Amino acid sequence: MPTSLLNQNSPSPYSTDIKSETHITSTNQLPQKLYAEVVVNIPLNKVFHYSVSPHLRENLTAGMRVKIPFGNKIIAGFCVGFTHTPFTDKTKDIIGVIDKIPLIDDLMLKITKWLSSHYCCGWGEAISAVIPPVVRSKKKEKWNGFVRRNEHTVTLDHDTLLNMKVRAPKQAKVLEILLEHPTEISAKELIRISGCKMPGLRQLEKKGFVILENKLPDAANTPRTIDRLQQHLTLTQEQQNAFDIINKKLEQPKPGIILLHGITGSGKTELYLQTITKALEYGRKAIYLVPEISLTPQTIQRIKARFDKVAVLHSNLLGTVHQSQWNDIKEGKVDIVVGARSSIFAPLKNVGLIIIDEEHENTYKQENIPRYNARDIAILRATCENALVIMGTATPSLESYSQALNGSYEKIVLSKRIGERQLPPVDIVDMGEEVRKRRGYNIISQRLQYYMNQSLARNEQVILFLNRRGFAPYIHCKRCGFVLKCHRCDIPMTFHKKFNTTLCHYCHAEAHPPESCPDCLANTMNYRGFGTEKIEDEIKNKFPNHTIIRMDSDSMRVRDAHEKALTAFERGEFQILLGTQMIAKGLDFPNVTLVGVISADTILNLPDFRASERTFQLISQVAGRTGRGTKGGRVVVQSFNPRHYSITYAAAHDYEGFARKELEYRKQLNYPPFGKLARIVFRSPQENKAKEKSSIVGDKLKELAKINGNHLEILGPSPAPMTKINNLFRWHILLKTQDHASIHTALHGVADMLKPTKSVQTMVDVDPYMML
Ligand code: ADP
Ligand code: ZN
Repeated sequence: MPTSLLNQNSPSPYSTDIKSETHITSTNQLPQKLYAEVVVNIPLNKVFHYSVSPHLRENLTAGMRVKIPFGNKIIAGFCVGFTHTPFTDKTKDIIGVIDKIPLIDDLMLKITKWLSSHYCCGWGEAISAVIPPVVRSKKKEKWNGFVRRNEHTVTLDHDTLLNMKVRAPKQAKVLEILLEHPTEISAKELIRISGCKMPGLRQLEKKGFVILENKLPDAANTPRTIDRLQQHLTLTQEQQNAFDIINKKLEQPKPGIILLHGITGSGKTELYLQTITKALEYGRKAIYLVPEISLTPQTIQRIKARFDKVAVLHSNLLGTVHQSQWNDIKEGKVDIVVGARSSIFAPLKNVGLIIIDEEHENTYKQENIPRYNARDIAILRATCENALVIMGTATPSLESYSQALNGSYEKIVLSKRIGERQLPPVDIVDMGEEVRKRRGYNIISQRLQYYMNQSLARNEQVILFLNRRGFAPYIHCKRCGFVLKCHRCDIPMTFHKKFNTTLCHYCHAEAHPPESCPDCLANTMNYRGFGTEKIEDEIKNKFPNHTIIRMDSDSMRVRDAHEKALTAFERGEFQILLGTQMIAKGLDFPNVTLVGVISADTILNLPDFRASERTFQLISQVAGRTGRGTKGGRVVVQSFNPRHYSITYAAAHDYEGFARKELEYRKQLNYPPFGKLARIVFRSPQENKAKEKSSIVGDKLKELAKINGNHLEILGPSPAPMTKINNLFRWHILLKTQDHASIHTALHGVADMLKPTKSVQTMVDVDPYMML
């Protein structure tokens, strides 16, 4: 964890602008002249002062929105505090107070202020990001949910419909459409054909004619064996020892942070659940972060089966549902909030426990403003609230692991699988050798095929993993070498066979697959490489007597598809499950005795200092999907780099070995967890503008590096690995230092130059995960 997390004085590009430290929330004892400190949702970390006329004072506290004159407009801002000493004596008046109760409390004011200074964004931007849009805006909501007839509350007879046709013809139309649709229909589609807008649909819901449903599958509604999940299990000796340590921590006034390093299937989730029970007994509440809600249905089920007052926050929640959940949490009706990264901002009071499941996951990092990492925010929040943080994983991030090594985090190890089940043996297949032996490339190696036949013959199940969707990721001309690229991005188009189209996986541009080469006109277009769609074909050919289900974002577009597919696989309706990272996490199917990693090289070859770490994590995670039952299991990993340490250590289930080696490399190159990084990306429709700007900023940074002598290392400017995305050319600079303070000082030094102009946009990413 960045130490500056706890140190609000860390220098930052803008923190000098933020003067106020005290938030006066009681208006009773205020002297005469009072000014409100207001921030607005713009990329500028500045606090503005406005005078508050006496009639508004009663109604205004920090955390509320106010209407203010700003430039020549009237906009909404957030009141973050009060002062008696304005920056200028020409302050303008606040026009009105928008909220009756504060949207955020003092804790969130503090956290958002830290967000803005650490991640270099506006305080107003940070506040806007922690409040769900529905809570914040009165704008018409856009909703991607589904509508179906409500057949329980009211019967829809002829007269009612006729009556409605006169009074509300569009709503009547909706009902007519729904009568023809036995299942649900997408709200978007319904709005389009009926002409009835969202408020109309809501009225219909109120009257009991329809049910509006959220898009995401609700794990709680699926008919699985819930009862076996309800009871606390008797802990194993290893779990009990861990639980005793956790318990002791939980009782302390400043509990700190636990890294729960437990191999897959070692019973971490069970420990989380029992710890939550303890926290609730102490009268505290809990936040449970998961990498992605839709990908962890089994975990959500287990939580819901065991506890009552649970709120599951999806990013995709139906507007009104999200709002009411938010209010329920705020009003203290909820004990446990479960959700993805933004749930760390949930307005839960009295949080005593924060669980971060799969703490190593990249999804905890937000890739737009504010570019925060929920893991760091969790620690900040827990420190403010004196809560215990438990980070659990089978493959700790090197950041967390090094904190455990140096004693900042308490490390607890779970080294055994429940029921003394063994971790599966991992076979590495050298694909280079395979090509030589078989005089050609075969996606499925002989060894993988052999083991698949064995498992399938025993009526067991197989999971195949490939981190690439589509049919072929590369279309080129054999004659002239032309490569079909996106017209907006400098990225090859992927061929999708089912839709007979080519897609850009970055900007979603679509184009017809060319019949002949667009360049030399020869009839020699060739499809190279493979994605999940092609593997599916291959498997169907090779295993015609077995059923396969493919799970990737192409095949899982329909509502509930994900949950349905998993349920069908669990019931044994399919023998083979093929998928992308969607299936790497958290699945627990005892009948799966073989996992095949089609290519371990997709991530390993990325130009990213975390490529080895991510490869190790991925192999370990997918390997964890097998050997969970009594039948044992096996993993086959195919790679052209079979001797790479990330693969060999993963195959040996040796996290420590991997971490030792990887930490050595990181130390040599001063990459995190040793050095700290920030990345600046310059984007422009004109390549030379992006280049020019990056070189000016780069020069300035290098100058600063010389003066400060604070071991500031500047890499670049250079073209980003993805040189063009969405018609914007991209250049970047990487800053590497010993600590966050130096990063902030450096960024402060160029803050003025980073203001976006018409021709060049800039993006600052502190502690970046995305290096492309
Ligand atoms: P992890 O989260 O480390 O992958 P889980 O908590 O999911 O592990 O446990 C793996 C399996 O073992 C689950 O099916 C779980 O229900 C079961 N399990 C966990 N703890 C116990 C226990 N103490 N006794 C019996 N079964 C357990
Ligand atoms: Zn594109």
